[in-house]
Amino acid sequence: MTDVLIAGAGPTGLLLAGDLARAGVAVTVLERRAETSNLTRAFAVHARTLELLDMRGAADELLRTGTRVAGLRLFGRTAVDLSRLPGRYPFVLVTPQYETERVLRDRALAAGARIETGVEVTGLRQDADEVVLHVRDDGGTGVRRAAYAVGADGVRSAVRSALGLPFPGRSAVRSVMLADVRLRDAPEDVLTFGSTGDAFAFIAPFGDGWYRVIAWNRARQLPDSEPVDVAELRETVRAAHGTDHGIGEPRWTSRFHSDERQVPRYRVGRVLLAGDAAHVHSPAGGQGMNVGLGDAANLGWRLAAVLRGGVPDTLLDGYHAERHPVGRAVLRGSGALLRGALLRPAPLRAARDVLLRAVAAAPPVGDRVARAVSGIGVDYPAPRDAHPLTGRRAPDVPLTGGTRLFEALRDGRFVLAAPEANPVLAALVERDFADRVRHAVADGRTRTTVLVRPDGHIAWAADDPAPATAHDALAAWTGADHPAPARGAG
Ligand SMILES: Cc1cc2nc3c(=O)[nH]c(=O)nc-3n(C[C@H](O)[C@H](O)[C@H](O)COP(=O)(O)OP(=O)(O)OC[C@H]3O[C@@H](n4cnc5c(N)ncnc54)[C@H](O)[C@@H]3O)c2cc1C
Repeated sequence: MTDVLIAGAGPTGLLLAGDLARAGVAVTVLERRAETSNLTRAFAVHARTLELLDMRGAADELLRTGTRVAGLRLFGRTAVDLSRLPGRYPFVLVTPQYETERVLRDRALAAGARIETGVEVTGLRQDADEVVLHVRDDGGTGVRRAAYAVGADGVRSAVRSALGLPFPGRSAVRSVMLADVRLRDAPEDVLTFGSTGDAFAFIAPFGDGWYRVIAWNRARQLPDSEPVDVAELRETVRAAHGTDHGIGEPRWTSRFHSDERQVPRYRVGRVLLAGDAAHVHSPAGGQGMNVGLGDAANLGWRLAAVLRGGVPDTLLDGYHAERHPVGRAVLRGSGALLRGALLRPAPLRAARDVLLRAVAAAPPVGDRVARAVSGIGVDYPAPRDAHPLTGRRAPDVPLTGGTRLFEALRDGRFVLAAPEANPVLAALVERDFADRVRHAVADGRTRTTVLVRPDGHIAWAADDPAPATAHDALAAWTGADHPAPARGAG
């Protein structure tokens, strides 16, 4: 029996598989498609996702594939400036989704994950000890068993259906056209969004001369099966932007509709849901894949810790507690952006534009918007008495020895970063926690000792902690079962 079965080899399932395999968990991904996908659905990889990839040693490879865009232009003249974001990635990377999947797949396979293609999950049952997935492949039907299963099988998730969970929400927008085109008069290299209320169009540069156009026309509401006509595309972009930028013949087109939905529970017993299987929303803001990758990063270390033993499996409830609110906020944010684009009465549109320009121009507010869009602003709630850093995103601080925090996280262990060399703390980690915690010393001005989770959030922090206090925190989070040093020691 494998430890974890994952349904779906999209970006969410692949990141999770890599994290589990890196932690020594036996993991198998079951993917319905027989071939890898070459569809460019997501093209925006935001700063926090690049940080998550950096913590896995995979950011540089993805960065080689795309183009970096430091600004977002909304509704005409409102600009969101990403260049002031903290960290190494003050931009959004525009690259096709299949490149992100390739990087994640290579990493998962190299770490020892199994990926079986042409295997469809059709149902499941679970009891106190295991999950049994029902599958169908070329050879017929069968079952697969695991200690835990994750549904990362996209918006029409069979795992979610088998759990009997609802997927409440509503339809957000219909008949949205997608096209990859060349442009004779390209806008400058920013993500450009224009709308009139009766039409909107969004243009993103891939960096290789091709552009992704997403366009919608209130007067042309057609079923998804209707092909996209280049004349219709040009007319819609002209209506929204005042010019069609000289759109040439597309290399690829599609028409789709999008919903806003979220499952009420991310965990049911031994089964968890992640990515589009758990939440879906309009492409406004380019968030979907990024949120799914955030889910995977949050879930992987929890499953690994529970399977290794020593921590209660309520650690998995923390996944729902932390990621469900993030999904809900993204649903609201992208919904607001979409409804802003669809606003029809001219006075309301004018008020929207004035308000947005004022918001974006005020540096603290503009920076908040940039942090929200990029995912850099996602922090998790902390217990009332906790240190103020608890739950926050850990910045990529330099460490002694010429390395930095995100590099130290690459082997999947927690990092205990102390403000200065502390032999007692170092010996404690070495003696009792070496297989799950790495000890490091910050190379800069900080007073606080922090325990950083493998997903880059701060689990615990204290100013000048006694070794026994640090031991308790390490044991609670990582599960090693050793006696604490005597109280008051060190
Ligand atoms: C037009 C468009 C533009 C978008 N742009 C962006 C963007 O710029 N940025 C962004 O972040 N997001 C964007 N998104 C959203 C993004 O594509 C999705 O959020 C992302 O693909 C979700 O990843 P996932 O791994 O959760 O699911 P998916 O990518 O849907 O992967 C699910 C996988 O599960 C497999 N599967 C399904 N059912 C089964 C089964 N029963 N058994 C086994 N396998 C199964 C599927 O074949 C698939 O490989 C966009 C989406 C669309 C439609």
